[in-house]
Amino acid sequence: MDQGDANGNRRVTRFRLPSGLEIIGLPTPNSYGGEWDLGPTWNYLILTEHPILVDTGRYGTTTDLVDMINLAGLSEKEVTRIVISHGHEDHDGGVAKMAEITGAPVLAHRVYDRLCRFYPDLAPEGSRKDFPAGCWHCHMPKSFSDTHCLDYQREGAALAVEAITEDGYVIENDVTLYHIPGHSPDSLAVKLGSEAMLVGDTVLPQITPWPTSENMFEMTGRVLAPDYSRADEIYGLKTYLKSLQKLSHLNGRSEMAVFPAHRLYYGGQWQVFGLKERINELYSHHIARCSSIMAILGSGPKSAREISKLLFSEAQLKGAGIFMADNEVTSHCELLAATNDVDLDDGPGFATRGTSTFVDFIKGLS
Ligand SMILES: [Zn+2]
Ligand SMILES: [Zn+2]
Repeated sequence: MDQGDANGNRRVTRFRLPSGLEIIGLPTPNSYGGEWDLGPTWNYLILTEHPILVDTGRYGTTTDLVDMINLAGLSEKEVTRIVISHGHEDHDGGVAKMAEITGAPVLAHRVYDRLCRFYPDLAPEGSRKDFPAGCWHCHMPKSFSDTHCLDYQREGAALAVEAITEDGYVIENDVTLYHIPGHSPDSLAVKLGSEAMLVGDTVLPQITPWPTSENMFEMTGRVLAPDYSRADEIYGLKTYLKSLQKLSHLNGRSEMAVFPAHRLYYGGQWQVFGLKERINELYSHHIARCSSIMAILGSGPKSAREISKLLFSEAQLKGAGIFMADNEVTSHCELLAATNDVDLDDGPGFATRGTSTFVDFIKGLS
């Protein structure tokens, strides 16, 4: 197998589970040229009787992906199904090309199937009407979207998708899909019997996955009706934390192998982790972040932007960083409002009630 580089790029790896089932890790390049680095996208080929490819790397990396499949001794023609873990470009960028090359059907959550389309008449004021619904909230500068997104969005909108509506959808034998919204409203986990779980970006080593905020539903709700009528069914930190709880329950008491979509190998080593342990770390992280926000609100009501400026460093707030920071703060304040620790007022934004109910809420999930 290809040994790849220290961050895992091109480190094609064959994993054998106790049952004998094999999974091939296919890490495709994932560089935005920006300051942050998630590491390559780990796509996986599950070698069931009819091999299933989970994720397709970024737009423009299909040649790398096919090369790696070949390097592992398989033909891309052996892929019989493509599953998309969630509709972020580093995971579904290559889906249209891979579907074309392999002839395999594409399985994704029904929310994915809705959000990858264009709805010029349904787009709300202030959104990017010329983008698919999943990108209406995007704050990346036009210089970025013009070079990274246009072809990807056009191909995605034309893609035929087998939309998964059932939670616990069985693809074959022991391969089951679960809806785990939060990082993205369409996130899916792939469970392989009781021995492995592919968790997409919902649980990552070293990185705390970004949660959506419930206010995104104000833009996309009309596209998702009537299947979803409330933001907290598919968006926000509370939804994300509940999906972590769901993963933890699915894991049960077994020692499952966990296959994340980034950083399986990074910094010159394998980043092996236990699902429950990592989920508990993520709960702790969010308790700490909520606590920091509550401390900031101790000096008086503040808007998300005002909180962001006090919570993050100047370097973190540079460029599009400010929008990511605002989203991070908003998603935590939405949770704090749901646990009645914070009031959402019409004025500047958020005001503390002086309680810390959120701590018991999050701890209660574990
Ligand atoms: Zn993602
Ligand atoms: Zn990702």
